[in-house]
Amino acid sequence: MSKPKPIVLRSQPDKSATKHLPIDWGEIDPLKRGPVIGSLSKLSHRNAIGTHSGSYSVYRALAVANGTLQADHLPDLTNTSPAEHIGPHPSWGDANLIVSLDPFGALVSEIYSSFYQQGYDIRPTIAVTKAHINLPEIQDAIAHKRVLIDGKIVKSGGNLVVTKIAIDPVWYLPGIANRIGVEESVLRRVLFQQTGGMFSDLVRRPDLQVFLPPIGGTTVYIIGDVAHISDPEKQLAVRVHDECNGSDVFGSDICTCRPYLVHGIEICIQTAQAGGSGVILYFRKEGRALGEVTKFLVYNARKRQPGGDRADAYFTRTECVAGVQDMRFQELMPDVLHWLGISRIDRLVSMSDQKYNAIINSGIQVCDRIPIPEDRIPADAQVEIIAKKAAGYYTPDGVPDATILGETQGRDLGD
Ligand SMILES: [Zn+2]
Repeated sequence: MSKPKPIVLRSQPDKSATKHLPIDWGEIDPLKRGPVIGSLSKLSHRNAIGTHSGSYSVYRALAVANGTLQADHLPDLTNTSPAEHIGPHPSWGDANLIVSLDPFGALVSEIYSSFYQQGYDIRPTIAVTKAHINLPEIQDAIAHKRVLIDGKIVKSGGNLVVTKIAIDPVWYLPGIANRIGVEESVLRRVLFQQTGGMFSDLVRRPDLQVFLPPIGGTTVYIIGDVAHISDPEKQLAVRVHDECNGSDVFGSDICTCRPYLVHGIEICIQTAQAGGSGVILYFRKEGRALGEVTKFLVYNARKRQPGGDRADAYFTRTECVAGVQDMRFQELMPDVLHWLGISRIDRLVSMSDQKYNAIINSGIQVCDRIPIPEDRIPADAQVEIIAKKAAGYYTPDGVPDATILGETQGRDLGD
């Protein structure tokens, strides 16, 4: 092993600051906007704080540390370009409308080809591919004739044709600060402090305005013709879903997440088969972005409290453990919708007032809101749904009163 190079803690302004390409966030021309460079192969080229791959950058560090991965590996991006065409949309040129992803993130290998020839290591932050998915609930919907096998959107065997998009977060810090209502300097300082001092450039380099945060990203599933999404003449269904590993993957019955997600997919298929399209947004914000450890602690606290798991104490238990009820910051969520060029949602498959308000406050029209059908709610999830309805969720059948709240009980921990 050769002697490791000394670590240089970067500070502003330094000589390298003059070398990096500027980013003019919100510029519609990608060449004028400039590429976001968070790669580590040439430090003087970096014009963003943090690095690529979100939370997976830590695993990359392990692979470099034990020699599995060469630190200077350059990705070969041959044949990786998007499998479907997205945009550009006018929203891509609005610095206030999209602040948490790079609208050009899927296209870098094409639009910045001249920079690659000059030795710049520009990484895609968005990937667009196509797939077939098959879900037992959709098989059931086919059996009950709620969904038809049309050979195009739903193929034989119940295989659903989708376009799927993975998006890594790219934060324009002035826009993020504005969206959550704090000064940018405060945001930078607290991000630095609350990550244990992980990114010193947050406080040392005010000239760098773009941050690649080490967090989970977003996956988009599109059902039907991708070109229909931004066409106001076509109907659009949207489900906005925040990750719930326990229910989504493992079928836990304490919440409505998977049943509602699958209902959203069913509505998207129906809308696509009627000539429109459907979009599922899946955000990695486990346990209301409090994390799964906190979530499981709260489950225990709910079920062990005096009187058992009750709708009237649902939010209180979360607040006791986490200090807050929710950290998802739904005001950032509509960025993906704007990136897709969506201006109207005909069917929003969500009862969340926070998601609805974020969407309409960002300028997107919502026509109908689709609640989860009563017969899809697991018995133990009544606590959650009644508590949420009482707290402001969309309830076409009326808000539960104090008696219903007090009487709605979940299963005991040991049962
Ligand atoms: Zn859940």
